[in-house]
Amino acid sequence: MAKVKNMTGPDRFHNPPSEYDSWLDYWEKKTGKKASTCGATDCSTTKGIVGGHVVMVGSSDTTHYITPLCRPCNNRADTFYVSTELIPVPEL
Ligand SMILES: [Zn+2]
Repeated sequence: MAKVKNMTGPDRFHNPPSEYDSWLDYWEKKTGKKASTCGATDCSTTKGIVGGHVVMVGSSDTTHYITPLCRPCNNRADTFYVSTELIPVPEL
């Protein structure tokens, strides 16, 4: 489980590499899993899941990661825990 927050700023709006349909598609192909629920541990939404851009909180790790989030969680401003894998965003 990782403590994260949503990335802010324009970097969260850039497009995934062209071989992926979306950031969620990127996460699913990298993990070999189907993103069926929001990754936030205090949320169980199964509808409208997107590949959210998050960063770790309380860590020296500044990597940008993709993890499945529902749209409301993709817009939350607090810190929260996710139980889904964090897949690093590729360097541009
Ligand atoms: Zn959620």
